[in-house]
Amino acid sequence: MLKAERYRHFVEYFSKNQPDAVTELHYDNPYQLLVAVILSAQCTDKRINQVTPKLFERFPDAAALAASDADEIFTYIRSVSYPNNKAKHLAGMGKMLTEVFCGEVPSDLDDLQKMPGVGRKTANVIASVVFDAPAIAVDTHVFRVANRLGLVRASTPLAVEKQLVKNLPENTLAIAHHWLILHGRYICVARTPKCEICPLTWFCKYYAQQNTETALLKAEALKFRKSKDAKKKKIQKAIVKELVKRSVDKDI
Ligand code: SF4
Repeated sequence: MLKAERYRHFVEYFSKNQPDAVTELHYDNPYQLLVAVILSAQCTDKRINQVTPKLFERFPDAAALAASDADEIFTYIRSVSYPNNKAKHLAGMGKMLTEVFCGEVPSDLDDLQKMPGVGRKTANVIASVVFDAPAIAVDTHVFRVANRLGLVRASTPLAVEKQLVKNLPENTLAIAHHWLILHGRYICVARTPKCEICPLTWFCKYYAQQNTETALLKAEALKFRKSKDAKKKKIQKAIVKELVKRSVDKDI
């Protein structure tokens, strides 16, 4: 299948089935989204949504964060991953947002990345979600699913981002980020993707590769099935074990 076709199927499927996909982080304004995204690094959205209501109540804007310090912020975010670093980042971000950007979240990617705790991924989320910019943030889900589906062939987040930006229609970039994240979070999970319930098997590169491999293994196992040679029997046994692990036909 040509890459262009894969992209077309991807956009068609999700446009039809998830036309309103959005982030699962709770927020009411750009400042709150920025805080939530900084906190969400290597942590679940569910956990972040548990801590942000009290955090936003105590720190309703950048000025409130700037007037506080990392020690106090820490007490509100102690249950998220890396709370010490994130508390320092939020304190620094609050100061810079207040002093340099007059309390307004900037739209420029370079400006965003000047703030503590804001890397390329976070900047892209803010740019696309808040400012509708043609950018796509690549997190672990986007990275994995885009590679598995065969939309990209890349080993770094930046390379994934560049290929997605090049190939996706500009007006789908922002929502494609959510499509890939949600698919990766609930179906194409990291360890054992739930291909048996995935509606994308028919154009997924990874699924095709797995099926080809399984077919080859089956053929190999059948070849050795009636052999009396101990070595071949051993190989056949190992293959059957692998196939059983993959939950395929056990009666070889
Ligand atoms: S078919 Fe499997 S590997 Fe491919 S996208 Fe679906 S869950 Fe992921």
